[in-house]
Amino acid sequence: MFGKKNHKKQIEFIELKKDIYACLTIESGIGWSNSGFINKKKSVLVDTMYDVQLANELKDFVNSKTSNLDYVINTHYNGDVMWGNQVFEDNIIIGHESILEDYKLENPIYFNKLKETAKNNPKELNRQELFLAQNLEPFDFSNIKIVLPNITFKKRMTMDLEDLKCEIIHVGPAHTRGDSLVWLPDEKILFAGDIVFNKYTPIFWVGRSVNNWIEKLDFIVNKLKPEIVVPGHGPICKIKEVLDLRDYLTYTLSETLTLYNNGMKDPLEICKNINIRDYLDWVQPERIYINVYSMIKELEKVKTPFDFKEISRGVDLMRAYFDEKYNR
Ligand SMILES: [Zn+2]
Repeated sequence: MFGKKNHKKQIEFIELKKDIYACLTIESGIGWSNSGFINKKKSVLVDTMYDVQLANELKDFVNSKTSNLDYVINTHYNGDVMWGNQVFEDNIIIGHESILEDYKLENPIYFNKLKETAKNNPKELNRQELFLAQNLEPFDFSNIKIVLPNITFKKRMTMDLEDLKCEIIHVGPAHTRGDSLVWLPDEKILFAGDIVFNKYTPIFWVGRSVNNWIEKLDFIVNKLKPEIVVPGHGPICKIKEVLDLRDYLTYTLSETLTLYNNGMKDPLEICKNINIRDYLDWVQPERIYINVYSMIKELEKVKTPFDFKEISRGVDLMRAYFDEKYNR
């Protein structure tokens, strides 16, 4: 099937300043991520999206602007920013060193199987798995070959694009261990990867640091002071939306701590007691369960891998709870 369909365009390319583009997926929800393209004397693609079809659309755009793509950067390990790498496997691909290990945390074969089961034997799946499978339906994971960065860095990398400076700054562990920003200091444009979600509920997984995430948002606001921010998910934004995310994280964290210290230990119970009315219109507010669950684990200094089934169950229960409470 794949490649034979006449796919409709799924990415919108917006020129932010001369020869610097945001590549925004038109749909929103799980897996619809953004990338960026800088076409100066040297050219850079920031992230390759979730599947070959999306990556090819990025490649077509790149090819329409330049005959030579110099660099690809991965801002972190998640599939939705690097499973398109195979389309660029002959290129220099740069990423934080932790990606070489952490990519194993996500598996396209599992997602593909989940989608197949949802189609053929939906009764075998629980409500949350069905929800995930439905959300993943637009993507094609049947032919994903994982291609990893071939140049890695630890803290910071400055790239000279001849007529523009481009910095890659490691700021994890926050959303993931390897989170990196792609920063254009002369133009004050930031490709934030998943350090910034805009109008999307962020995801904070066990084993990372929410306090560090908040600190790094402060670093963006106070030190980098970008004029334009391309978030990992959601529309292009500015400092205000970075502060909105900061508020969400600090609010959720402080509510969680208060409730936890008052004796409430169950993440589901805590979530139900946090009033997130201000954030209900962000994509998938029920992700609060993942955030609270991980905040508790951080508090308890538990670093072991999260229990995916337990988290999925919690997210599903929160969705049902919000549906009922807010008549969604
Ligand atoms: Zn991500």
